[in-house]
Amino acid sequence: MENKWYTISNRYKNLCGNCKFESKGLQNLDHHNSICPNCNIECIWFSFEKDKTLQIIPKYAPEQFQKFISWSQNELDELEFLELIVNIEELAKNIGNENIGK
Ligand SMILES: [Zn+2]
Repeated sequence: MENKWYTISNRYKNLCGNCKFESKGLQNLDHHNSICPNCNIECIWFSFEKDKTLQIIPKYAPEQFQKFISWSQNELDELEFLELIVNIEELAKNIGNENIGK
C-alpha cells in the first residue's frame, strides 16, 4: 500500500496518515517538524479555517514539496508562514471559482 503524504482531518480528531492513530486536541501546530505520538513518524501539522487540520509526512511527500517545507522552515517565522497559508488558501479558493474571468 502506498503511503499518503498528507491527511486532512479536524482538530478534534487528528488522524495520522501513517498509522491511523487518532490524537485529540493537538498541542502545538507549527510548521516545524514534530512526531506522531503513536508511531513516532516525523510530520508537520497545520491548522486551517473551519477547524481543519492537515498532516504532512515529509518522508512520503514529493521531493519538491520537501524542498518547499525546508525552505519555509528556514526562511519564515510562524506568523509569516501562517500568512502564506492564508494566501494559498485564497488562491486555491479562487482558482475553483468559475465566476472569475467571465
Ligand atoms: Zn502515527
